[in-house]
Amino acid sequence: MTRATVDLGAIRHNVDVLREAVGPGVALMAVVKADAYGHGAAPVARACLAAGCAWLAVATVDEGVALRRAEIDAPLLTLGPSDPAEYPAALSHALSLAVGSLANATALAQAAHTLGLTARVHVKVDTGLNRFGIPAARAVAEIAAIAALPHLVLEGVYTHFASSEEDDKSSARRQLALFMDALNRLDGLGVRPLLRHASNSGAILDLPDARLDLARPGIALYGYHPAGPGGAARGLRPALTLRTRLARVETAPAGAGVSYNHTFHTARPSVLGLVPLGYADGLPRLLSNRGHMLVGGKRRPIVGRVCMDQTVLDMTDAPGAVVGDEVVVIGRQGDSYIGADELGAHVGTNAYETLCRITPRVPRDYVE
Ligand SMILES: *Cc1c(COP(=O)(O)O)cnc(C)c1O
Repeated sequence: MTRATVDLGAIRHNVDVLREAVGPGVALMAVVKADAYGHGAAPVARACLAAGCAWLAVATVDEGVALRRAEIDAPLLTLGPSDPAEYPAALSHALSLAVGSLANATALAQAAHTLGLTARVHVKVDTGLNRFGIPAARAVAEIAAIAALPHLVLEGVYTHFASSEEDDKSSARRQLALFMDALNRLDGLGVRPLLRHASNSGAILDLPDARLDLARPGIALYGYHPAGPGGAARGLRPALTLRTRLARVETAPAGAGVSYNHTFHTARPSVLGLVPLGYADGLPRLLSNRGHMLVGGKRRPIVGRVCMDQTVLDMTDAPGAVVGDEVVVIGRQGDSYIGADELGAHVGTNAYETLCRITPRVPRDYVE
């Protein structure tokens, strides 16, 4: 009954929008980590490659291996830190690995030597996110040493922005200046990585100077602007619709307590609609008594606790709803629309988390 429908045509359209945004000469690396932000990594990866993305990126070696097992042989970078125990799997599946220290690069080169393979690395420079990577102050010396390692090719050097989606671009510009300075100094040492990259969705859309050789869109591929509502204004199309069907429509008298712990009481004789979807499907329990779903093209408030598998809507103002009517949790119905960003905002989060929290219990359907 509950399904997430992913419009691969929308994904391809979004790739077109992003290709237009970066212009000619800039390759696109489709970020399909976290099961393509909940959309399904393999089908989304294939759609992005068909639409002209040259590269794929995931967070972990396991995610990369899963794509290789799905017979996807495009260039594929793991963006997150990986453990030396994972190097043999990464190397034998021809993954390019992000590296954040000379020590890891040395261990990786050793693993490649043992297997008779060549490691391909993208060194991450930490220009101010203070998360992963070699701090910019040490980066030039360490990257030069990494580039000199045997059994290893320095395929790329990259950085990642803390707040490129914000209107105030000063922090992103400071990071970009540090990155360009490191690249220039490397160039002075004769170290010229094939691919220099920095842009996430926010920078692709709003910071043209950061495009370099390759750009790494994630959330924009799925149709959302990283800053929240605004994706549509850029011509992006949300790709995922989460829908189900009303499983019960029943009246309740005034004063009836609804769902666990009776956190909601009807103020009037009411019609309650049962939605067979709950927090085990990825609907946050914090949406209890907050937010809406669409039935008959209109917003219906969530009342009472969101349960593991079921949620109740107040349908009193929607006479005529019957069992089997479509319920849209994320997406469009008639003239109404609830985005993953709007749903997330009710519980203090964003489209990213809302989308990648849709659990494996929800079947994904693919349409063109
Ligand atoms: C997740 C991620 C991206 C994509 O970010 P979006 O904001 O979704 O476009 C790009 N680069 C790195 C290093 C990432 O971790």
